[in-house]
Amino acid sequence: MIESPLLKNIDSYIDGGWVSSPNTAATTVRNPATGEVLAEVPDVGADETTAAVLAGERAMGQTFDLDTRRRWLNDIADAIESQQDELGRIITLEQGKPLKQGAGEASYAAGFYRYAAEHLDELEPETLPETVRDCRWSIRHTPTGVAGLITPWNFPLAMLAKKLSAAIAAGCASVTKPAPDTPLTAIAFWSLLDEIGLPAGMASLVVGPAEPIGRVLCEHPAVRVVSFTGSTGVGKKLLELTAPHVKKLSLELGGNAPLIVFEDADLEDAADKLITNKFRASGQTCVCTNRVFAHEAIADDFAQRVAERVGKLRVGDGMDEHTDLGPLINRVGFDKVAEHVRDALGLGATRIVGDEPPRPAEAWGAFYPPTVLVGVTTDMQMSREETFGPIVGIHRFETEAEVIDAANGTPYGLAAYVFTADADRADRVATSLRFGHVGINTATGPAPQAPFGGMKQSGFGREGGIEGLFEFCETQVLARG
Ligand code: ADP
Repeated sequence: MIESPLLKNIDSYIDGGWVSSPNTAATTVRNPATGEVLAEVPDVGADETTAAVLAGERAMGQTFDLDTRRRWLNDIADAIESQQDELGRIITLEQGKPLKQGAGEASYAAGFYRYAAEHLDELEPETLPETVRDCRWSIRHTPTGVAGLITPWNFPLAMLAKKLSAAIAAGCASVTKPAPDTPLTAIAFWSLLDEIGLPAGMASLVVGPAEPIGRVLCEHPAVRVVSFTGSTGVGKKLLELTAPHVKKLSLELGGNAPLIVFEDADLEDAADKLITNKFRASGQTCVCTNRVFAHEAIADDFAQRVAERVGKLRVGDGMDEHTDLGPLINRVGFDKVAEHVRDALGLGATRIVGDEPPRPAEAWGAFYPPTVLVGVTTDMQMSREETFGPIVGIHRFETEAEVIDAANGTPYGLAAYVFTADADRADRVATSLRFGHVGINTATGPAPQAPFGGMKQSGFGREGGIEGLFEFCETQVLARG
């Protein structure tokens, strides 16, 4: 069982207090590296979620000026920073990523609250310079209503931060449903939030089964906006559930990120950056490269440089300071990766790094060795779907037009990366790529200061940046005659 000063209460948090459900069902949280049971979190369901929504509606009966919201946001950022290592440890224990990445996630999460605090003035009302039809016109950015926040397991603190910082900035109360694999990070965060002094009901946390909780968040009339990060399949379900109620949605869904290496690129730099991008959280992030396209002239050389680096990566328990890659979240994730590799090998790819690992006996201990495949083609499963694992698959290409077509040849459009020494080409290619985030000679992911989100079936809505602050606002125009 996990011990932490931030986990004195292991429960949901509703209407300003910890709530134990009368239900006997519980969400079992395990360390994915060892299978150790970290906690049994009592489940709440539809009734408690409804209570949380109503508490949020009551909290929004008051309005909170920008200075109050700024103070909350800064206090939250301070609280996360002061507990960065402990939050990082909890993230590693329940998610599996190496400790350094856990602490890094906490610092990244704090950045969203800080950024929102520093840019709240963007939400000040504006007055139009023109007098139109004898009226003075002003524009207000009002809170949309209670927000439903549904978060995934790969960044249990950062994905929450992206949503909750913007909801608080806008003045929206919220009800958060964390992923069942990683609720402890959220619970630990709520123990900090409990000290901040938000009004009761302003931010509730409900841990329990997805379907009944999701249904309340999608159907309750007081919830006016739902922000979700997760799979495209669940995103489509939320679209259907909210459609009859015409709710605002913000969806960050799956990706299939291409990384293109042209013949004039700095291959050492591109290989280093690919490794950092690809193996973060063992390849389980939505901005991890899923397809590498290397120009014919340098493809073998580039594959060799990547292979040298991948061969040195150490897989193990994230709590061990020597670990570069932790386990996959569970055996379902492992099976998908194994199937993608099997499929690619069957269709003619060659594995130049990595061995066939044994299937884990249980849901945990899903360690997959970092693997490099060459001779990968667009018909393979690993090119068509997001693998979410530590596999680099290298394609070859000859022309710029061909690689743009191939990179765009996916229903997804979240992140893409281009490596070239030719600035004109970089611009041209980036303009043709239908992806919301394009790295040029970098494979860095999103930052609190920049709006991040997808095109096509990767979703809509933005998190981070000024655009992110408006996700939980509605525009109201006052015309004064
Ligand atoms: P993954 O496949 O990566 O686990 P999911 O899309 O299944 O991604 O999960 C992302 C989040 O969505 C999690 O918090 C999960 O519990 C939640 N979720 C899954 N199904 C539903 C649903 N029907 N309604 C609401 N939330 C859901």
